Amino acid sequence: MNTSFEVVVVGGGPVGLWLACELRLAGLSVVVLERRTKRVEQSRALTIHGRTLEVLSLRGIEDRFLATGKPITAGHYAVLDTRLDFNIFDSRFPYTLFIPQKATEEIIEQRALELGVDIRRGAVVEGMTVDSGSVSVRGAGPEGAFELTGAYVVGTDGARSIVRREAGIDFVGYPATAMALMGDVVLDAPPSVPLFSEFNERGSVMVAPLGDGRHYRIVLNEAVDRGVTRDDPVTFEELTSVTRMIAGTDFSARDPLWLSRFDNETRLVSHYRRGRIFLAGDAAHIHLPAGGQGMNVGIQDAMNLGWKLAAVVKGEAPEYLLDTYEQERRPVGAYLHDTTMAQGYLITGFSPHGRALRGVFNDMLKNPEINAYFARQVSGFGVRYPEALPGCAGSSSSLLGNRIRDTELQLKDEDRTNLYSLLSAGKWVHLAFDAGEQVAIPEWLPTDAVIFEEVRGVEHASMFSGLKAILIRPDGYVAQSAEERHVDAA
Ligand SMILES: Cc1cc2nc3c(=O)[nH]c(=O)nc-3n(C[C@H](O)[C@H](O)[C@H](O)COP(=O)(O)OP(=O)(O)OC[C@H]3O[C@@H](n4cnc5c(N)ncnc54)[C@H](O)[C@@H]3O)c2cc1C
Repeated sequence: MNTSFEVVVVGGGPVGLWLACELRLAGLSVVVLERRTKRVEQSRALTIHGRTLEVLSLRGIEDRFLATGKPITAGHYAVLDTRLDFNIFDSRFPYTLFIPQKATEEIIEQRALELGVDIRRGAVVEGMTVDSGSVSVRGAGPEGAFELTGAYVVGTDGARSIVRREAGIDFVGYPATAMALMGDVVLDAPPSVPLFSEFNERGSVMVAPLGDGRHYRIVLNEAVDRGVTRDDPVTFEELTSVTRMIAGTDFSARDPLWLSRFDNETRLVSHYRRGRIFLAGDAAHIHLPAGGQGMNVGIQDAMNLGWKLAAVVKGEAPEYLLDTYEQERRPVGAYLHDTTMAQGYLITGFSPHGRALRGVFNDMLKNPEINAYFARQVSGFGVRYPEALPGCAGSSSSLLGNRIRDTELQLKDEDRTNLYSLLSAGKWVHLAFDAGEQVAIPEWLPTDAVIFEEVRGVEHASMFSGLKAILIRPDGYVAQSAEERHVDAA
């Protein structure tokens, strides 16, 4: 078995698997070390937000998720009655997709195997040693002790990350102050709305479909602390009695699939990178799972890191490009840290003062602009990378760092294609709207890493209005554009 890789990924959850797909797509040798021998049956995450669906679509595999999940056009902030309206997004995916994490991981793992990622299950990483040109990773696997080397190592090994510990990176934040109870069950009398919630002085109940067409998730926050600890097993009787106590009904729940507790411990790493070691996903940020964000943000960490790491390993970009991973993604993690703490405060606001504050927020969310602001933050559509990449001179465009939506393009040779199809190989894409127009590409980027196309028409003409040419990064964000031109509709 091979023991030397360009990248060793520790942890085969959704984030590690997606990162491995990105690295392998670029042709790197990648191994994923996963301590579990089998995937977990229970699903923590239920939602894939619209921007993550765009990420999956950028690689042409969104249909695999859409075939299984259930689209819902509303989201919530802090379980407030005024829902977030996802219909407003200018995207092919103006909704959140309810799909169990187990299905998400299955689909991503299948793609990783198709791309030829070496996935080693039952491989428990126990330590690492860094030297000047590589990192060696030690552990125990089904065939005994192992030692592998990688030019780079990425820790996607979750909240208790050993990679983070071995790299000596601080995980700064706050211990848990509140705990919630949850159960995935069949409901014989489900609520009539897709996303149900009840909030009163006794606590809160939220009910959402699991996305598998059969089960629902009940999430409970109680106003009174019963002295239960995180490790106390949840019983079905506890779930139904607390649900009845708060909501007056248990929705005729039966056949529990998973009963659990979770808390609001909130932490963010001080650094996303130390030399040859990177962190992504829950290894870099943990928080209250409010609004369904952790896995989504983690997959987008992986999307940001993947092409950069691949470009550096292949010699297509200078090493300093890797610093932009932390520069771009840590602010997203910091916002997630703060906004989930704020949601947690509102979610446990059972006192008269807390309920008054919730009332104020409920009213504020009725304002479409405020609603859109929160909807963008929760869904990932609000992420923007406003700093020009190093070596990308003269980027002053107002589009710099914006995500690009999918649209049909009419090319010079009369062919029609979707923009995301052009991006699906993981390369950069340069579009010229007039013959010969070109933006400055980064000085270090080889031209064969870029797909150049001349465009005669665009389905969503307004998105390129006033542009002469545009350069799009492999993760679907604008790197550079040249402005002042009118584009006709296709
Ligand atoms: C109740 C609940 C609901 C949630 N709902 C949502 C939601 O709707 N949407 C959303 O986006 N997020 C949600 N989340 C958060 C989401 O589940 C996590 O953010 C996501 O699983 C993080 O993915 P990851 O790959 O970073 O880490 P993980 O999924 O934790 O994967 C880490 C992997 O690393 C492996 N590993 C750990 N240590 C080692 C080692 N030493 N050696 C080898 N392998 C190792 C583990 O076995 C694991 O497979 C929810 C969380 C909870 C608790």
